[in-house]
Amino acid sequence: MAAKLPQSLADVPTELVETDLLIIGGGNAGCFVAIEAKEKQPDLWVTIMEKAHIKRSGATAAGMDAINTYISKSESPESLVRWSRSQVGGLIREDLALSNARVLNQAVESLDAWGLPILRDENGEYKRRGRWDISIHGEQLKPIMAERAQAAGAQVFNRVVATNLLIQDGRCVGAMGFGVRDSKFYVFRAKATVVSTGGACGLYRSPTNDATSSHHQTWMNPFNVGSGYAIGIRAGAEMTSLEQRWVAARTKDFCGPVDTVSVAYGCPIINCKGEEIMSARYAHLGGDKAPRYLRANAPMEEWLAGRAPTYIDTTKLSDENAKAMKTDLLNERPSFVLFLAARGQNITEEPVEIYGSDPYIVGGHTGSGFWVDLDRMSLVPGLFAAGEAAGGTPNKFVGGCAAEGMLAARGAIKYLEAANLPALDKVQVEAEKARVFAPALRGAEFDGVTPLEMEERMQRLMDEYAGGIAQFYRMNEERLDYALKHIGILKDQVQYMYARDLHELMQAHEVIDRLDVAEVLIHHLKFRKETRWTGWQTRMDYPEVDPKLDCFVESRRDRETGEVRVFTRPYEQIVPGDRMKP
Ligand SMILES: Cc1cc2nc3c(=O)[nH]c(=O)nc-3n(C[C@H](O)[C@H](O)[C@H](O)COP(=O)(O)OP(=O)(O)OC[C@H]3O[C@@H](n4cnc5c(N)ncnc54)[C@H](O)[C@@H]3O)c2cc1C
Repeated sequence: MAAKLPQSLADVPTELVETDLLIIGGGNAGCFVAIEAKEKQPDLWVTIMEKAHIKRSGATAAGMDAINTYISKSESPESLVRWSRSQVGGLIREDLALSNARVLNQAVESLDAWGLPILRDENGEYKRRGRWDISIHGEQLKPIMAERAQAAGAQVFNRVVATNLLIQDGRCVGAMGFGVRDSKFYVFRAKATVVSTGGACGLYRSPTNDATSSHHQTWMNPFNVGSGYAIGIRAGAEMTSLEQRWVAARTKDFCGPVDTVSVAYGCPIINCKGEEIMSARYAHLGGDKAPRYLRANAPMEEWLAGRAPTYIDTTKLSDENAKAMKTDLLNERPSFVLFLAARGQNITEEPVEIYGSDPYIVGGHTGSGFWVDLDRMSLVPGLFAAGEAAGGTPNKFVGGCAAEGMLAARGAIKYLEAANLPALDKVQVEAEKARVFAPALRGAEFDGVTPLEMEERMQRLMDEYAGGIAQFYRMNEERLDYALKHIGILKDQVQYMYARDLHELMQAHEVIDRLDVAEVLIHHLKFRKETRWTGWQTRMDYPEVDPKLDCFVESRRDRETGEVRVFTRPYEQIVPGDRMKP
């Protein structure tokens, strides 16, 4: 329902909240930050700023059918790091990944203790569905985390969108934002702040995107738009590996999960000729065990080669397994079962068609995000990152994002013990309030651009010129230059964007944030003049791996000039072994 807009800035009340620890984004990682912080220091003031409602927000909102990483007795933190390293072409922050792996099981076992149904095998161990994944009945996953965070004593501000950090004396002392239901401007002053806003969806046009009927049909939660990255970029934080984009193979026309069928039930990916794609074309790279980017990209290569459509071959499933698989889907994407039913599709007779997704920036799957130290502090003192917002540690998923939350909480507690808050910078606060409400105060007669129009233009531009799915993820220098130039034009046109209600005001800020992330992303894509991860990052003008780029690509945007500086950091190997082998 459309909420009422203020008529002038004077109509907008400002609410000031003081806290010790501010968590921006009460998702998977954010809830774990709160729970861990309150457990370690019960008298700490912990506050969560959440754009949606923490009971059903973020990537896990709709439920999950698996926790993708758990270290069984036959594995070790080191073997998880080795596997994770191999899945992303040998480029991860091993220090972070190892520290994450060391607390991963504790995070997963906490979920078990709080009542998450985790399936068990005949020996009473967690039931595995792959080397690292365990099966869950995860429809209640998010409510369980949210209830624990609230029971621990965290104060939650639901439906409050973070728009910028409060930066004073070169350090982060909180954040600002607005209420999408109450139209208040919020100022949170905090000794330490953790960004856990998830990844960035909607930078690129989705192949299942129709403006009116399925605008939000994406693999990723469409409301995670990269705001955490954007507020970090604007504050001058260092970003790492944004060019390591994530694309997923999805069921076509619906964007349903593929791994639930292909990994859990062993159904191979096939092309229209019935060939098993992974073993036919990627046997030398491990076949079905080939790195994740190749698996996700494989169906699109078949399309290009004239061997499409592509499918997951469910026709050899027993009736019993077909039923069990649908039960799993009911835990993660229930509407997919309805989709199949609406088509009258019997999956044991007709295989499920698959296709690629639009690209995302998501540090839970790849290494994109804030450059952080072992305490998960960014290069802006007082600002920490957790979950998908934190870079360097791919393949975190549910358990790893939770572990990251625990580690960020511990780091933040260490930091805030010595942190004092300076007097509030009222100039900064008033400037941000004016910026936030500007699209809403342009007046009913204003003839400008709606957020949706701006978003569509940006997504088409990124899709066509910065390696979206319409171009089979391919890009070259000239197209990237074009994309950069036109992102700049769109940024200039933000002044013409208007909002007719508070929901649209939120959408306006979503586009503004996406434009900032897209701009820095293009700089990263331009810098990596090689093809390291086909599909995630395919440079037609540099089709080979360049050994000189066996390093991290980093960026920082100047707070005053807006200039983006791109540079590298060397790779540091800690866990012995061939980096390309699991
Ligand atoms: C479709 C899908 C399926 C997946 N399947 C699995 C699986 O089966 N197993 C597995 O282990 N992992 C899976 N994952 C991965 C896993 O769910 C995520 O990596 C992890 O949950 C992300 O945690 P997070 O805390 O970083 O982000 P989230 O849990 O998404 O939390 C981000 C939070 O920030 C809030 N937020 C965003 N912007 C703002 C703002 N401006 N102001 C305030 N709040 C904001 C959001 O509303 C949200 O609550 C899947 C992910 C997706 C998208």
